[in-house]
Amino acid sequence: MKKVFFVICDGLPDRPIKELENKTPLEYAKTPNLDKIAVDGLSGMMHTVDIGVRPGSDTAHLSIFGYDPYTYYSGRGPFECAGIGMDVKKGDVAFRANAGTIDDGGIVTDRRAGRPESTKFIVDCLGEIEIDGIKFILQESLGHRIGMIIRGLGLSPKVSDQDPHKVGVPVHEVHALDDTAEAKFTAEVLNKFSKLVAEKLKDCPANQERIAAGKLPANVILFRGAGAVPEHMPSFKDKYNLDAVFVAGGPLYKGIAKVLGMTVYDFDEASGVTGLWNSNLQNKINKALELSRDYDITFVHIKAADTLAEDGNYMGKVEFIEKIDAALKSLADENDFLFVITSDHTTSSALKQHTGDPVPITFKGEGVRTDDINAFGERECSRGRLGHIRGENVMPIVIDLMGLAELFGA
Ligand code: ZN
Repeated sequence: MKKVFFVICDGLPDRPIKELENKTPLEYAKTPNLDKIAVDGLSGMMHTVDIGVRPGSDTAHLSIFGYDPYTYYSGRGPFECAGIGMDVKKGDVAFRANAGTIDDGGIVTDRRAGRPESTKFIVDCLGEIEIDGIKFILQESLGHRIGMIIRGLGLSPKVSDQDPHKVGVPVHEVHALDDTAEAKFTAEVLNKFSKLVAEKLKDCPANQERIAAGKLPANVILFRGAGAVPEHMPSFKDKYNLDAVFVAGGPLYKGIAKVLGMTVYDFDEASGVTGLWNSNLQNKINKALELSRDYDITFVHIKAADTLAEDGNYMGKVEFIEKIDAALKSLADENDFLFVITSDHTTSSALKQHTGDPVPITFKGEGVRTDDINAFGERECSRGRLGHIRGENVMPIVIDLMGLAELFGA
């Protein structure tokens, strides 16, 4: 069986930019290694979720892994929580949360509580909370962020955000997003939680110390993105009978892989792998190559092209793409793997957001058909013989190219 090395460059494609001779950053960047991979491989365009759908990173990744997000996705919370090492169980409802600041009138004045270094003091101050038989599990994350899981019988992820997403207004009352008793109960419990947290955090000694030191108190937990892991969601191993390892810096992506039961590699600080523009991509690729010996399929997620585009920094994106290209040099000449390179969605540097434009994808390896394109980019790959596929087609193609597909019919 051929091993698979699969690279997902977040938000890599873009739209043409006037200042770049009307090319996209991927087309403008000098990428000899990516181009060689495209020349040697079979390319096309992928509509990750569906034609014209603007995917989030989470729904896009689920699609690429072969999990229909319309079936399996309810919100980002479970992936964020799993990504920071929380144990998300089926039936839990999980949220992304921030420590924030409210004034005496309950108005949100800072959504990040002056950006504390850690939220451990809040988690400690709140201690164990159980309301109407529902356990609240909180865990500190980077900076102002907190992971929040609620666990118990009769919960639903169909509830609105309590986080108002802006300052100058009170926190939102949570309400049910459908007519089920579960959604109504979940909203009720969450509203009781908001009140209890406000009381507890007001008297928290760590907050008194923050105020005395001229800092903003963290006296509210703002939560959003309710989601649940569906009971019937199979693991990646159960679905494909393949051992997968996922190599990434960003918590969301690691969380998706963890929820699917993949092995997730955690880099230490010395590795320089950060998920940011300054990440040490060569170390990341080298580690992934080392891990690939023990796994059937190795996924590598590279984040920063997306972040740079969301900042409108198209020249930074060009430079980062050249850095990706350099890190992939050894793989351009490699033929032992089935190599796949693609992205999860387009991120427009002009619009500073994801768009529904399809993304380039190339499969390369011994026995894989080729075509006559000359570069890895939006225009070139749209001429590729793979044509247009959807995210859900990727894993069946991979399985077939690995020689593992079962014959349909006789
Ligand atoms: Zn993304």
